[in-house]
Amino acid sequence: MESLGPKRVRSRTTAASLALRAPLERLYRDFDYAGRVERDAIRFPLRYPDPRDREVVALLTACLAYGRVDLFGHALEGVLAAMGSPWAFIRDFDPDRDAERFRDFIYRFNRPRDVVAFCVAARDVLARHGSLEKCFIAGDPDPAGPIGPALERFARAFLEADLRGVFPGGQRSRGYRHLFPLPSAGGPCKRLHLFLRWMVRREPPDFGLWTSVSPARLLIPLDTHVENMSRAIGLTRRRSRTWRMAEEVTSRLAAIDPDDPVKYDFALCHKRMSGDCRDRRDLVVCGPCGLRAVCRHWKGRRG
Ligand code: SF4
Repeated sequence: MESLGPKRVRSRTTAASLALRAPLERLYRDFDYAGRVERDAIRFPLRYPDPRDREVVALLTACLAYGRVDLFGHALEGVLAAMGSPWAFIRDFDPDRDAERFRDFIYRFNRPRDVVAFCVAARDVLARHGSLEKCFIAGDPDPAGPIGPALERFARAFLEADLRGVFPGGQRSRGYRHLFPLPSAGGPCKRLHLFLRWMVRREPPDFGLWTSVSPARLLIPLDTHVENMSRAIGLTRRRSRTWRMAEEVTSRLAAIDPDDPVKYDFALCHKRMSGDCRDRRDLVVCGPCGLRAVCRHWKGRRG
């Protein structure tokens, strides 16, 4: 079989991305964000108007955002209720005095001591840097470069915090380690990218609080819904949901909007999550879909 040279591969990629531009832009522009925000994890940090509260709640929410929103949301509600003002609570956190407040917390891999460890690590990060954004910037080796190295150091700031008072012997629990996936492990790190999308992107529903990080550097928060949609419209052919897949999907989207490639994430994710896409040819569901012309389930078929 004839092998394609890099130039031809690149030109095919660009042509495919250009074909996606109009339908994706329409999806982004016309999507009913208000109707879906309350079903999304973003609703938790959105409740907090003070940027300091919003920043720490966004990180805690994103860390716990594995599984269905209603399930982790129920556990998160208890933690947030115990905190009052989350930023002030974390700033003054004393595990001997405050750990008891989380005694009823349980969510899949996570137990009360994982929340206590989060509060201790976040308290020390805030004391050292002043904000999570400043911590991220301090570990960013190249503000114009890929986001991976900065995200790695940010996650390590929490993983390598002094937690001897929480984990006797210094061995972090599996649940705590699960809160902070490392880019160097090769996984998609969806929850950390979701946190960055919330903090960095300037347009709603995202917050745009981290003005020192460019949205052009973000990678797509690749969950199962975005993975399915990405395959359906040809953003990737990879089989495994990995960091490389997130890079590939993002680079295709960057060919459409290099300044803000992950702006399509919310709409793509919720289109699939809401049942407006079943990841198969369905005459009723696909009928009004604006992505039909670029969808692999409809390629070569007349609508
Ligand atoms: S055409 Fe159908 S399967 Fe394809 S993206 Fe749209 S709703 Fe999903």
